[in-house]
Amino acid sequence: MPSTIEKLHILGEAAKYDLCSSTSTPRAHTPDSIGRATRAGVCHSFLPDGRCISLLKVLVTNSCIHDCKYCINSTVNTHCTKRTITSFEAEELANLTMSFYLRNYIEGLFLSSGIVRNANIQAEIIYDTLHLLRNKHKFGGYIHAKILPGIGYDELRRISELADRVSVNVELPNKSRFEETCSTKNYQTDILKPINWLPSLKSKGMIPAGYTTQYVINAAAETDEEILNCVFSFYKDDSNFKRQYYSTCLPLNDDKTLPKKLFLRENRLYQIDWLHRIYKYSSTELQSVVDDSGFIPLNIDPKITLARNNDIFPLDVNKASYFDLIRVPGLGPTSAKRILSLQKQKVPLTRPQQLKSIGVVLKRALPFLSIGSKTQLTLEQFTNGGK
Ligand code: SF4
Repeated sequence: MPSTIEKLHILGEAAKYDLCSSTSTPRAHTPDSIGRATRAGVCHSFLPDGRCISLLKVLVTNSCIHDCKYCINSTVNTHCTKRTITSFEAEELANLTMSFYLRNYIEGLFLSSGIVRNANIQAEIIYDTLHLLRNKHKFGGYIHAKILPGIGYDELRRISELADRVSVNVELPNKSRFEETCSTKNYQTDILKPINWLPSLKSKGMIPAGYTTQYVINAAAETDEEILNCVFSFYKDDSNFKRQYYSTCLPLNDDKTLPKKLFLRENRLYQIDWLHRIYKYSSTELQSVVDDSGFIPLNIDPKITLARNNDIFPLDVNKASYFDLIRVPGLGPTSAKRILSLQKQKVPLTRPQQLKSIGVVLKRALPFLSIGSKTQLTLEQFTNGGK
């Protein structure tokens, strides 16, 4: 029987496939350092107010009845790697979270789980853990709970009353792709149904930090076009969708030969997501970057593609609106606001170096701007900035 710390190593490691931040970077440490919490699955996440916090990211159990082919916990992957099956009790997990919290290792908890018998029994353990934390330990910190496929409404509601954020992983962008990867779950009833319950729970004051979902990339033959159709249908129908995460299907053994282009694909999907949420590009604009084969080109930044196809360029930097400025490659919301402030003060920008000093990446931005009626580079001269 593994000790609590041994369980933490096993179930923290097994939780690495669940994302709650696109920057879940391990902490730097040396082998002899103290406070070494990375093996136990400490990750970083961003709160709605922009603060970065450390979360204990762990599973309740790494046992599961489902056969998702991309998951290390699935019934079809037991041969891939030697692993010890183990589980936490609710009280053990609540005590562990508090002991980490009181040592300042973490500021919150991200809790997920495999499913030993059925989703509702497992959800009850997640609920019991959260209930102990909130009521016995008076823990007021951040909790992100993963919602298990096939959960019932009452179980989802009870968890949503205690968690700050929940996530229901859609995994694949449509029913047919989903069925390529799993035969034991139903896309409509196990995944989409719980997702559809979330807006009304949020409207009742639960899950104050909203909810997210995650796609596993390259687990089936899904195209980027299919993924983006699903992504934008969620964002369009529901403004409470805070984030959607894209996670490349990792090899389940120690195979180090995974092609880099798979991670570039993941990165391109994050760029599109970012351009939609932060830069307010429409779904139609963003879907136009997908090529005839249904994929976002890997060899060029999508913002460059969009700018090249947009006839508003070159923009007069001293007259352009915020909305147009943030469409310039190499120019983001912060530098656009600074330019706007200079426009309001009637301080004209006359030299590229002035732009550089307010944070604009000149190499990328200059072909799309005119400064003092001059365009600094033509699009033809611009050859390397978009790579
Ligand atoms: S339901 Fe979740 S834990 Fe279980 S096999 Fe599928 S992805 Fe893994």
